[in-house]
Amino acid sequence: MEEEVYRFYLKQHIGKPALACVKPGDDVFTGQLIGKADEGLSLNIHSSVSGSILEVTKEYIEILKNLPDTAEYLHLSETDPLKLIEEAGICGMGGAGFPTFVKLQTDLSGGGSVIINAAECEPILEHNIKRIIKSGEEVVKGLAIAMEITNAAKGIIAIKEKQKEAIDILKKHVNNNMEIFLLPDLYPMGEERAVIREVTGKLLDINSLPQAAKAVVMNLETIYRVYEAVALKKPVIHKDITVGGAVKEGTTVFLDVLAGTKVSKLLEMAGGLKEDVGELIMGGPFTGKRTTKEDFTHKTTGGILAAMPFLQDKRDMGLLVCACGGNEERLQEIAASMGANVVGVEFCKQAKRVKDNLKCDNPGKCPGQSAKVLKLRSLGAKSLLISNCTDCSNTVMSIAPQLNLSVYHCTDGALRAAGLRLVRKIHLT
Ligand code: SF4
Repeated sequence: MEEEVYRFYLKQHIGKPALACVKPGDDVFTGQLIGKADEGLSLNIHSSVSGSILEVTKEYIEILKNLPDTAEYLHLSETDPLKLIEEAGICGMGGAGFPTFVKLQTDLSGGGSVIINAAECEPILEHNIKRIIKSGEEVVKGLAIAMEITNAAKGIIAIKEKQKEAIDILKKHVNNNMEIFLLPDLYPMGEERAVIREVTGKLLDINSLPQAAKAVVMNLETIYRVYEAVALKKPVIHKDITVGGAVKEGTTVFLDVLAGTKVSKLLEMAGGLKEDVGELIMGGPFTGKRTTKEDFTHKTTGGILAAMPFLQDKRDMGLLVCACGGNEERLQEIAASMGANVVGVEFCKQAKRVKDNLKCDNPGKCPGQSAKVLKLRSLGAKSLLISNCTDCSNTVMSIAPQLNLSVYHCTDGALRAAGLRLVRKIHLT
């Protein structure tokens, strides 16, 4: 058996890091608690493998998997559903990382809804849809559990209309208190407030929580892990991940990847990298971050993408930043990799700063980008690098080429590598 190292970051969620409760030399079994939730907002971390603790630092625990794979895992000990979800260490697995047991303490009595976000909005990523196709019944059972905990009258699964096979499977399992809501194929339909707007018709302001619309929104995989925690007493030891882009076997979905797997192992599982590769991305093309083969997955990791090498354009470049796509830091990183000289940075006028993040006033509904494009041109830009949503990219494309500005999008490298259409001009139907 090949011995492999797995790494478990102590902070894979919003809140305080977990506290390591093992030390180097200890032997651990699959499912064993290795990081205990700190007081306040925090989450447990469990080992996904059986083996020996190699290293414990302030940031992570590394385990040498030196015992064979087994389907067995140490079962959770609680009996109450909400306590099981807390003990399992479940957080928002679509990227948000918010502890699920806290979210499910929302009381939706009086006609509220649990909304499952199955939009899987980022291009290339397919693991949520594959999960529905494999485990549609369990997903619906997870929704029923969340509805019962929150006293919700209704369960809604929001999914893109194009996902016909997954929709047909869900239809077989939903009950009379559940509904399948069809979304258009636009980015960012999966943004939490966009989902609520589409489903309820109510646009929340950027500081409001879903409760203001009598709703709780949960990512598709999160609800599946809720089912596992309550029905199977299983901690979070697996993650569904799409590996895509410039990998030899093409975009491939791996369900139930061992938590804490090394990026290089996932690339190998997809046949290894093609010859011509640029950066590696952890996450989706819009919001993912640059990673390396040496890094390890988190509870929130949905994608490992290998992009094409960066096109080189050394001219003066303007950056146009979206709240739901690559942030300024990410666009600066891409611009540097393209050899460009950044002469200005503008933000979509609907992108508002909330603490350290940007949030969009009305995700996916373009407020007009002409003024921003003209401003960047007046600063000397000869090209633009944008991270805008589908609708806003469309608007940029309706003016920038006429001003002789070349347009690049933060998703270009990954989409080219996956053979998908670039985010530029779209034709809304
Ligand atoms: S409207 Fe602007 S901030 Fe909002 S999603 Fe579109 S580009 Fe991003």
